[in-house]
Amino acid sequence: MDIAVVCTGTELLKGYTLNSNLARLGARLTAEGLPLSLELCVGDRAHEIGNAIALALKTCDVLILCGGLGPTKDDITLDVAARFFGCDLETDPELVRKVTDFWDRIHTGHCPKNQLRQARVPAGGHYLSNPVGSASGLAFSSLYGGRMRYVYLLPGPPTEFVPMMENYLVPELLELDAKRRFTLGFLAAAVGESTLAKAVEPVLEGLPVEIAYTAVPEGTKLFLEASDEELLASAVEKARAAVGKDALPAGAADLYAYLVSLLKERGLTFGTAESCTGGLIGKIMTDMPGVSEVYNGTVVAYANSVKERVLSIPREVLERAGAVSEETAALMAQHAAEVLGCSCAVSTTGIAGPDGGTEEKPVGLVYVGCFLNGRTTVLKLNLRGGREAIRQRAAARAVYQLVCRILEAYA
Ligand code: AMP
Ligand code: MG
Repeated sequence: MDIAVVCTGTELLKGYTLNSNLARLGARLTAEGLPLSLELCVGDRAHEIGNAIALALKTCDVLILCGGLGPTKDDITLDVAARFFGCDLETDPELVRKVTDFWDRIHTGHCPKNQLRQARVPAGGHYLSNPVGSASGLAFSSLYGGRMRYVYLLPGPPTEFVPMMENYLVPELLELDAKRRFTLGFLAAAVGESTLAKAVEPVLEGLPVEIAYTAVPEGTKLFLEASDEELLASAVEKARAAVGKDALPAGAADLYAYLVSLLKERGLTFGTAESCTGGLIGKIMTDMPGVSEVYNGTVVAYANSVKERVLSIPREVLERAGAVSEETAALMAQHAAEVLGCSCAVSTTGIAGPDGGTEEKPVGLVYVGCFLNGRTTVLKLNLRGGREAIRQRAAARAVYQLVCRILEAYA
């Protein structure tokens, strides 16, 4: 049973609003083994919405329509869908009360007639309560092209869409008894897309799994999809074995979250000293809720004066070896652990470009240091890409160095 979503909203097409509902829906349905097969995004025009519905129904049995359920003139999704399937719209007395109550809570004066457009339900269908707004969701089924189709209409505002997806859409879809397809993946850290493909494709050949790669600054994520969960788990293990030590565990697709889980398991605390990454690691770490248990903070030691004063890197080292050097990276990591009072630390110092490169120290040269259990290690990297890519890759390689050291030390 294939599932399609049609997102309506001219603002989505013009790029004024990011289609976050699609991302939330896609991730949620994938987690339930019911991944989306198709997404279409159209403006708020009847013929566009109608065309999108027809296109979606060529292949899909479940149709989710998102947006355009409000009371204003451009909110036409329900009317278009009802006309398309030839079903009548009936005014539901319970919904009339809900819409009127909602109006009375916020406004003075009589609830205008156009608000009651939100009290209509397709004949034979049912409404889905909106815990936040006045537009209810709607669900109905209808024969089309000789097959039963299941149609869901949900409001566009993410604060309404997300809870209604959780409360009604997902549970109802799970009851439709559709054949489920499961997805499981892992990150191959510091491994490029083609290298990963070369490693895993021979061992996955002939297995009934779909393969998808996603290149990220941390390496490449591999996602496998299959209808049999056991077979999927064993295929993922085969792929992990083919990758070797750079394969994170099955299900671990986020390097930073994986580091946090390692730190928590081992009771370690972590800090960072960042020059060329300018606080990027600190930002990514603190984006994760609940990380304060293991993450102490970062010193953004961008200027040499900060490296010297805050991180106690001797001026002699900065002058002799340079800010971008193995020696400086090592001292930055070691002293960060001291200054920040944590059991392990990483550092980054390098030339992110586009200017500042020399023959001896070209753009992309980055040293990442790592301090753990009294021992400091440094990796010398020659990273490709523009300034942003170099910074992101440097951050990831610094963190991955610590992941490897923790795994070695606490095997
Ligand atoms: P609508 O239900 O179409 O009237 O949309 C109401 C609000 O939700 C507008 O601010 C839209 O920009 C926003 N919205 C609609 N669809 C989406 C979507 N797919 N993702 C994120 N926001 C959306
Ligand atoms: Mg809209």
